Amino acid sequence: MSTIVEMTGVNKFYGSLQVLKDVDLSVEKGEVMVVIGPSGSGKSTLIRCVNGLEVYQQGEITVDGYQMPREEDRKIGGEKELAAIRKGVGMVFQQFNLFPHKTVLENISLAPMRVRRKSKAEAEANALRLLDRVGLKAHAAKYPAQLSGGQQQRVAIARALAMEPHIMLFDEPTSALDPEMVGEVLDVMRELAAEGMTMMIVTHEMGFAREVADRVVYIDQGAILEVAKPAQIFDAPQNERTRTFLSRVL
Ligand code: ADP
Ligand code: MG
Repeated sequence: MSTIVEMTGVNKFYGSLQVLKDVDLSVEKGEVMVVIGPSGSGKSTLIRCVNGLEVYQQGEITVDGYQMPREEDRKIGGEKELAAIRKGVGMVFQQFNLFPHKTVLENISLAPMRVRRKSKAEAEANALRLLDRVGLKAHAAKYPAQLSGGQQQRVAIARALAMEPHIMLFDEPTSALDPEMVGEVLDVMRELAAEGMTMMIVTHEMGFAREVADRVVYIDQGAILEVAKPAQIFDAPQNERTRTFLSRVL
């Protein structure tokens, strides 16, 4: 197997507050890694470091074989690596972040045209194919506000996929949704996992995590306390704090 993400001794600070502590973590090609932990434990920070939305100060992060520049390197030529990494990393946020004044089709086809230099015809044909895949082909001409939250999130997934990412990052993709819409988004993610997409997913959907994850990471106060297969984490957690956390959420 080849490694897509490798984090070694990663430390990240906001001023004097340390939010990632000596993080070692690797994600293999085709692996689904689910990140769980209490609010404020550093889950978002961890996955945002993988596409450079957050800077880190110490340690090493490699993605797709490129070294993610540390904060100090961002100013001195790290932009090329950062751009190369971002091309291969798709991200889906809790708040779908679609462009409100663009149609669904435009939301999906714009970046492939601008960044990947695809023709409009090719980008739109690919967007329609992706919309079909997430069950929304009939909504191509609509604007985001005309869609439900679950539909908007599926568009956001299609938009990320349009860039042909090597890994997809999801930061609580269903947390902003009404309960009845959670399932349709998890279904799309399930399919992606089954197709072999490499994924890092922050979620509170423990049933989904148990079913889809190859490995689950438990993070607490910025430190990874446990990484294991879902059956191990959920049925026989080794760490006291993992146990306490799970007893509250399960
Ligand atoms: P989680 O996603 O697990 O809820 P976060 O990664 O968002 O946790 O946050 C980890 C810690 O970093 C928290 O203590 C949070 O308050 C702090 N934090 C997050 N973003 C910032 C920021 N922009 N400036 C200062 N502190 C932040
Ligand atoms: Mg978060």
